Amino acid sequence: MYTQKDIIRMVEEEDVEFIRLQFTDIFGILKNVAITKSQLEKALANQCMFDGSSIEGFVRIEESDMYLYPDLDTFTIFPWRPQQGKVARIICDVYCVDRKPFEGDPRYVLRRAVKEAQEMGYNLNVGPECEFFLFHTDDYGRPTTISHEHAGYFDLGPVDLGENARRDIVLTLEEMGYEIEASHHEIAPAQHEIDFKYEPALHAADNIMTFKLAVKTIAKRHGLYATFMPKPKADINGSGMHVNMSLSKDGKNIFCDESSQDGLSQEARWFMGGLMKHIKAITAIANPLVNSYKRLLPGYETPVYIAWSATNRSPLIRIPAERGENTRIELRSPDPAANPYLTLAVCLAAGLKGIREKTDPPASVNQNLFALTEEERRELKIDVLPTNLKHALSELKKDSFICSVLGEHICSKYIEAKEREWAHYKASITDWETNAYLEKY
Ligand code: ADP
Ligand code: MG
Ligand code: MG
Ligand code: MG
Ligand code: MG
Repeated sequence: MYTQKDIIRMVEEEDVEFIRLQFTDIFGILKNVAITKSQLEKALANQCMFDGSSIEGFVRIEESDMYLYPDLDTFTIFPWRPQQGKVARIICDVYCVDRKPFEGDPRYVLRRAVKEAQEMGYNLNVGPECEFFLFHTDDYGRPTTISHEHAGYFDLGPVDLGENARRDIVLTLEEMGYEIEASHHEIAPAQHEIDFKYEPALHAADNIMTFKLAVKTIAKRHGLYATFMPKPKADINGSGMHVNMSLSKDGKNIFCDESSQDGLSQEARWFMGGLMKHIKAITAIANPLVNSYKRLLPGYETPVYIAWSATNRSPLIRIPAERGENTRIELRSPDPAANPYLTLAVCLAAGLKGIREKTDPPASVNQNLFALTEEERRELKIDVLPTNLKHALSELKKDSFICSVLGEHICSKYIEAKEREWAHYKASITDWETNAYLEKY
């Protein structure tokens, strides 16, 4: 879409002073190197270097020099920054000194999966539903889990800080080119959801990263703190990131087949079969935190069992009722802490493998899974998702296919860091323990 010339012209015309060159680390954290417009031409010529050894999970000191290759189509001006001397960003691919794509760049992992799909004639479209909480900060500006709405029943004022912030977030995203389909308050107090239109996988992953930045930035302007932590408070719903997916071929949604009984195509079924077959390993990526597994508990509209349904909202995969171009499968386990590039890459690769190997999914389950007894579930052969990070990591280690999708570099760095995270958690003494035991014993 954009050429180098377009970018230079836009930077001139729009009075852009700073350009942020962005990329994402393997843990889903957005990183950036800021340059002034005097360095723009150099950056556009893929000459901008940074020290990769300071990024966790990237490289060792000895091989630290890396190049950033700006993806010109991602050029966007931040609407929340000053209107004179504006700030823009370009999302970059990370390259090594030998000018080869860096194996540790999550965007490259997704690019590889997308390329494989294209070789089969497919494009993956992804519509994410990101949920988040808006909380207050304390007197020192540190985030808390206190919400205005919680204290709200005390207040008389009609002003809902959260609603105002959400409205501002939606307007900002629209200014940045997002097509916002819906935004609404979620079930838990202080919890919100904003849905934007589906896009091809790489664009969708970029959108998720930018979405989180925009939400946090605008919330802060309203004196609030936005968090994508999966389960910030016990006893209320956590935040998920449902991933809606469909494959298109020659611009047509091939998950739809009007002639089949439920309107789903054979490809959609096999895609689902592959996804379900590898879901345990995928969980280590899609639910990356110790805390992620506190969201995946019965009773909070989150999946626990590996099952799919067209009628029920609680299973791992739901088939929304819409057909035609909106035919899709909805994976309901991922949470917004997940690295979107890696998550979409493993989902896509597993789905494509399902198509290649003609993997039939198990029969759909249309009753309430949580009402079944252990015995009934066993008879229906319904398996469960990993119940903690450690368990998910061992599933990932066992799944050589998902490991190969991630590549050796990312897979080993990821597992190493996440096992450390688990070990720290295991050694910690939680508030729950001191509350329950300190006085009693
Ligand atoms: P829910 O009913 O689960 O709350 P939403 O209406 O909140 O779902 O979100 C639906 C998401 O699915 C949107 O992001 C939308 O753009 C996306 N979507 C619609 N059609 C497709 C499709 N063909 N492929 C992928 N995603 C799609
Ligand atoms: Mg929704
Ligand atoms: Mg809906
Ligand atoms: Mg929701
Ligand atoms: Mg949903």
